[in-house]
Amino acid sequence: MGSDVVHSGGCHCRRVRWQVEAPTSMVAWICNCSMRGNTHFVVPAAKFRLDPDAEEFITTYTFGTHTAKHTFCKVCGITSFYTSRSKPDGLAITVACIDPDTMEHVEYRHADGRNWEAWFARSDIAGFSAATAVDTVRVSLGATS
Ligand SMILES: [Zn+2]
Repeated sequence: MGSDVVHSGGCHCRRVRWQVEAPTSMVAWICNCSMRGNTHFVVPAAKFRLDPDAEEFITTYTFGTHTAKHTFCKVCGITSFYTSRSKPDGLAITVACIDPDTMEHVEYRHADGRNWEAWFARSDIAGFSAATAVDTVRVSLGATS
């Protein structure tokens, strides 16, 4: 995975901007659930820094337990990051919202959020970086449970 670098990113209209420390090569999850259908990776919240100017442009949608915080830009509607239900001390970052210059490689894996049990049973996920992978999969499920 290599060492962490600082990636910059944000929403489409660039009113919400942030920086995140993460490796230059990463595994991202493509989720098919109804809430997002987006592709993301997960970092500890401590590695994420929101620009102070961005806060006034963020709006938050919650449901169910209200632990998950689905954050949108008020202007362009893009979710560039959000807080998941199963890992509230972590943040899910939308891969497409990272400025491309600092990314070397992204490995895309499919998380089947609609049929999670079956998907987990047949995947090789347990074999590669167990703890991180399971956390990441649970994040993908946050909106459907
Ligand atoms: Zn925006």
